[in-house]
Amino acid sequence: MLKKGIMILTAAAVLLVFIYPYAIQSLNQRDTHSMEDVFPKSYDESRQTFLSYENVLRPKWTNVRHDSFSLNEKDTIDSIKADATEEKENLIMLTGGVHGIEGYAGSAMQSIFVRELAGQLNEKTTGLHIVHAVNPWGMKNERRYNEHNVDLNRNFVYDWNSFDLSQNRNYEELNEFFEREKRVGHMLLHDAGFYSRVAARAVTSGTSAIEQALLTGQYAYPKGVYYGGTKDEPSTAYMKGLFKDILESGYKKIVHIDLHTGYGPRYQMSIFSSSKETMTEKEAEKAFNYPLVFTPDSKDYYVTNGDMTEYFYRLKEELSPEKELYSTTFEFGTLGDGTVASIQSLKRTIEENQLYFNQSGSKKSEDIIHNRYLELFYPSEEKWRKKAAADFKDAVNGVLAYKKILREEEIE
Ligand SMILES: [Zn+2]
Repeated sequence: MLKKGIMILTAAAVLLVFIYPYAIQSLNQRDTHSMEDVFPKSYDESRQTFLSYENVLRPKWTNVRHDSFSLNEKDTIDSIKADATEEKENLIMLTGGVHGIEGYAGSAMQSIFVRELAGQLNEKTTGLHIVHAVNPWGMKNERRYNEHNVDLNRNFVYDWNSFDLSQNRNYEELNEFFEREKRVGHMLLHDAGFYSRVAARAVTSGTSAIEQALLTGQYAYPKGVYYGGTKDEPSTAYMKGLFKDILESGYKKIVHIDLHTGYGPRYQMSIFSSSKETMTEKEAEKAFNYPLVFTPDSKDYYVTNGDMTEYFYRLKEELSPEKELYSTTFEFGTLGDGTVASIQSLKRTIEENQLYFNQSGSKKSEDIIHNRYLELFYPSEEKWRKKAAADFKDAVNGVLAYKKILREEEIE
């Protein structure tokens, strides 16, 4: 008993000494010089930019149109559709903001796609379908989750009737730890309390149990983190319909990229493949001419329940197995990929949940928690934004060249 107590204390001390300075350094200010106008400052600004794409694309895609689907009185899922003007061969689909707050970086990437990459495509054979924010409420309110606290990328369950809602035992065990039912008090006490609890947890359950409990999603605690819901959310139902329409349209080859932030190394975007990828990590990196691709054989590869890209593949197999589909996730890492970063990410996730459901007595604590959360999904640093933009262009070019969608003369 005493030995265990000492281990916990030591672990807590190590966390406090090494991680605390790192934690405060990013909370005071956000970098205010944002990269040109590409990275939006608000949801409205982002949506306005998105609506301008119709005019940007029209010289090439004469049939381009904007669709606005109302989820409720205030929130809409906006999309831009442009069909191939002669023959429906390839369709490129971009989706952003499935995790609301991640939609800001997603929006910047869509801007880059429309303004800098779409010009290389052959409009006669290639169509576009771009969805601004699948979770507009979460984007506006700067939360990863939607208006019902549901993580939409855990909500694309293929058949709820045969789905076990109580499957995440690890989460159940850690629920008390995740779902803090106290108000947030003074930040120093709050932070110290967290590190001693996480240290105790790391000693008793190991960090891998914590990570697994988080990543796979849970379906039993509606106020918890990574909650996947119990039925299709309105956004999910809408997207499922869209995938069906796309599979039933004439396109033979479909490339879908879902834009996310938060996971992976800070200055290198990861192409995170679905479980259907048959290439190995090395083969995929060579094929896409891109330095970081996660495939099912990769060391840290994982599949979550209710993932949107997995759903798309399953639907394709059922409706039109003859078509060629490539549906993948682009993950722009933010804090980094080490243990320190994953503990930070866990901490910011939990404290934002605690703040959302229990508020705080202190405005200062609220601001700190909010800024930390924003930095976790939408870094303000100029260097990060420039690298994200460059990686996005490289990866899109690499994937489209490999899929033979770029015009022949564009391929070097
Ligand atoms: Zn995400």
